[in-house]
Amino acid sequence: MSSIQSQDNTLEYDIIIIGSGAGGGTLAKELSPLIKEKGIKIALLEWGGEFRAQDNIREEYPMAKKYFFDGGGVQNVQQDVTFAFAKGIGGSTTVYTGTSLTAPQQVFDRWNIEGIDLKEMAPRYEKYKKENNVHLKSADEINENNTLFRDGCKNLGIHVDQFPVNTKGCQGEGYCNLGCPNLAKQGTAAVQIPVAKNNGVHIFPFTKANKIVGKTVLATVSASQFGLEGSPLKPGDYKFKAKRFIVSCGSAVNTPALLMRSYGENFLPAIGKYFTCHPALILVGDHGRKVQNMDGHPKSFFCEEYMESDRFLLETCMYFPFVLAKNLNGYGEDMDSLMSSFPNLQMILSLCLDKAKEKNRIGIGSDGEPKIYYDLDDEIITTFVKSIRAATKVFFAAGAKRVHAPGMEKFFIMPDENEMIDQLISERHFKPGKISIAAAHLMGGARMGADPATSVTNEWGQVHGKEHLYVADASLFPQCSEVNPYLTIMALADRVADKIRSLI
Ligand SMILES: Cc1cc2nc3c(=O)[nH]c(=O)nc-3n(C[C@H](O)[C@H](O)[C@H](O)COP(=O)(O)OP(=O)(O)OC[C@H]3O[C@@H](n4cnc5c(N)ncnc54)[C@H](O)[C@@H]3O)c2cc1C
Repeated sequence: MSSIQSQDNTLEYDIIIIGSGAGGGTLAKELSPLIKEKGIKIALLEWGGEFRAQDNIREEYPMAKKYFFDGGGVQNVQQDVTFAFAKGIGGSTTVYTGTSLTAPQQVFDRWNIEGIDLKEMAPRYEKYKKENNVHLKSADEINENNTLFRDGCKNLGIHVDQFPVNTKGCQGEGYCNLGCPNLAKQGTAAVQIPVAKNNGVHIFPFTKANKIVGKTVLATVSASQFGLEGSPLKPGDYKFKAKRFIVSCGSAVNTPALLMRSYGENFLPAIGKYFTCHPALILVGDHGRKVQNMDGHPKSFFCEEYMESDRFLLETCMYFPFVLAKNLNGYGEDMDSLMSSFPNLQMILSLCLDKAKEKNRIGIGSDGEPKIYYDLDDEIITTFVKSIRAATKVFFAAGAKRVHAPGMEKFFIMPDENEMIDQLISERHFKPGKISIAAAHLMGGARMGADPATSVTNEWGQVHGKEHLYVADASLFPQCSEVNPYLTIMALADRVADKIRSLI
């Protein structure tokens, strides 16, 4: 699609999808056969541009600036949590790690949405697992950072599972969270969007939807950035008219913001509310010898041992020096010593399975941009403390020589203090704002449900009271997904596509 003609900067379509991440990219592909079958027109508007393999220059800071909103430094209003989500064709699937889990039945029991259970979701999950090449990596592709976690858990008698991942042609360079220099992750930019494009969906990069007014999206096309291919439209303000809109602005933040800009901050009582994010802590153990941590896929194992009892997950992880330094805790000599030990570090991610609470919400500022209100309350702090204790035990069981317990009584905990972990790591040390919390699984804010008093869409993603308007992304989740969310987002988007197809 080299250029597109528009009359008075107005374009007409039957369906407009806004956002191209896990939700929007899936919708674009699923609805695209309708172009031939029914002669309809579909457009996909995306705020960011399309990254290519050569755009990943294997440097942390410039890559973070290119891919992430605010370079990955978006904060809550309280300024004690950082949120990572990406802008560009493929959305956050360009920077995700590609770990591919399906939510268990107990998650759907807790969601309690009519018609949505594991049986209904299973064929949808299977479809995207196949499309996105989900598989288990072989033993020789798993690096030592990961095997240490597996062995540490095993030594403690704790069960771990291997993550299925969705790579193809992975060279094990470890840059997943900064895009991929080999485009190996099979996100929507690699799989679903090319199909949509081939089937005739018009894709508009660098096109931000500002507001939906009646049956028109008011959008701004901006000039290309970072040397990427620009929009087929000249920069300027445009009107995109359509019969149906699907809002997939994603990662639970921009979808409620667009809806609020369009219909008012309180157009439904639940808009923006019940936001969850799996707040996470990066934890490190120093092995006093080189550990293979940078090379290889960063995430191979996870542990669900504490999921039901204590509401946290432990996963392997690997973060680059800048993000790691930001997420560890402290200054001066201790910090210097820890960061100098980077090649010796084993890393574990603790993910808190946070409850959906009304007080945790997305609002908008006077400029219409999202503001995140998220409270690190006592329940979350207790969960984190339990997870730091559990991870510390795993590090020592794997042979670590010292463990950094962020914000706790001592910067380093030593192996001979293993018996005192409960005293050394406690709630009284955990001060929000003093400990660096990050989140990358942003969910809710336009949740599904039957009751317009407590939800924003029905069980098919249709916004209450607005027949032409759907949501298809992570903001649909009524509560958190309790596991890494992208496959569940795709499966829900698949349901929304089914519903829309049935109406055309
Ligand atoms: C670093 C990182 C690692 C992750 N790893 C994993 C993992 O291993 N496994 C897993 O399951 N999940 C993972 N996730 C989470 C997963 O990537 C997200 O949950 C998922 O991509 C969210 O899908 P979405 O459709 O809601 O939004 P997104 O994928 O974020 O897409 C939203 C898109 O909408 C665009 N947009 C926003 N506003 C507008 C607007 N007004 N107009 C036009 N376009 C707009 C954005 O630019 C963006 O491209 C990770 C996330 C991050 C950040």
